[in-house]
Parts: sequence; structure tokens; C-alpha cells
Amino acid sequence: MKIILLGAPGAGKGSQAKLMVDTYQIPQISTGDLLRTAKAAGTPLGLEAQRYMDAGLLVPDEVVIGLVRERLAQPDCQGGFILDGFPRTLPQAEALARITDIDRVLSIEVAPEVIIGRLTSRRSCQKCGQVYNLVSYPPRTAGVCDSCGGELYLRDDDREETIRKRFETYEAQTRPLIQHYRDQGLLLTVQGGDTVEETFSRARPLLDACR
Ligand code: ADP
Ligand code: ZN
Repeated sequence: MKIILLGAPGAGKGSQAKLMVDTYQIPQISTGDLLRTAKAAGTPLGLEAQRYMDAGLLVPDEVVIGLVRERLAQPDCQGGFILDGFPRTLPQAEALARITDIDRVLSIEVAPEVIIGRLTSRRSCQKCGQVYNLVSYPPRTAGVCDSCGGELYLRDDDREETIRKRFETYEAQTRPLIQHYRDQGLLLTVQGGDTVEETFSRARPLLDACR
């Protein structure tokens, strides 16, 4: 099963991807995570990416496409995968089509007010990347990751000024992909404004049908 997750920042792509990994036993490929790993490792690619990410802008297509091409060539992707955060531009979608075919694109729709609230209360684990929410999914101990004990932090790009910029970027560059994939007959949509579990219970029958 080869799936793309589409949705605004904070729509919950990562949370849905985690449940899909458990359910369908296929890997999640998050370009945000790949870029943050490169940034933390201080590689030249990571340092270049950091400048764009911290400003709420997209990292240049050729950088991200290269990362995804390498990742999709790994053995664990041969039985399928979930793309989380890629493609985000039309050129990325076109490049992806030259790398692999795709079974379905799941678009997660959430009202902007809900999203802003989620992003400002989002906290991520420094060590394992697990995502929490101070309101809807707090850690057992404040500031500490339940799964690994790592320290929780507010991502630089989850600060309010940057969030606004990321939305503009989404509207201008990524939203057109919804129509692009609808035209290809690949689009599924799901309402994502409630809890992670509720959203997944709506998505699951749609996904099961395309296995
Ligand atoms: P979110 O979906 O909440 O915006 P991500 O972790 O997916 O968070 O992405 C964080 C940042 O990483 C983006 O704002 C962007 O700068 C960069 N990034 C992630 N994926 C891509 C991509 N496919 N193309 C360009 N930049 C990307
Ligand atoms: Zn952790």
C-alpha cells in the first residue's frame, strides 16, 4: 500500500501515520523528520534546510526530492509506505511520479482555528520525536516524554509568527495538490478536527478498501 498524506501543518498527518504504521506494517516517511535529523546531525544539507524551516518556508525541491528518492530505495519501502509531508509542491509531485506509483492520497481536513490551537500547544520529544499536546494529549510528567524520558520542547517552527508563515506557504504551494490528485482519481478525504482515534476510525475503512 503506497499512500500520501496531505493536510495543512497541524492537520495531524504524523499522528495518523503512526496509527497506519501499526495497522498496515509499512514505514512512515516524514520529510519533516528526515530534515530535522539532518539538522540535528549538523550535515551541510541539514544546515541549509534549517534556514528555510525556521522561517516557515519550504526547503528547496531538489533537496527534499533527493532525500525521498534515497529513502524510498531502502528495502523496507518495497512493500509500501506512508508519505507524510511529501509532496508539498507540484514539482515534488511530478518528481515522485517518476520515482514510484501511488495507490491513494488521503487528505486530512481541519478548520484553521483548530489547527492554530493545536500547533501552539504542541510539544515534541527532543530524543524520539514523539508528539504531545498540552491540552488534548499531555505527557504524564510535565516536560518529559512518556516513552523515552527525553525532554519535551516547542519546535522553533511552532512559534506563532512562524505558524502564520507556514500556513501561507501551505495555501500557496501545497493546497493545489488536492485538486491535482483529485484529477487523477486518487483522492480520499477525511475530517480531522476531532481526536486522533476518531479521525483514524473514519480513515480506516477508506484505507482498507485500497489494500
Ligand atoms: P508540519 O507538517 O507540521 O508543517 P513538518 O515536520 O512536516 O511539519 O515540516 C516542517 C518543515 O520542514 C516545513 O515547514 C518545511 O520547512 C520543511 N519540509 C518538510 N517537508 C517538506 C517538503 N516536502 N518540501 C519542502 N520542505 C519541507
Ligand atoms: Zn521520547
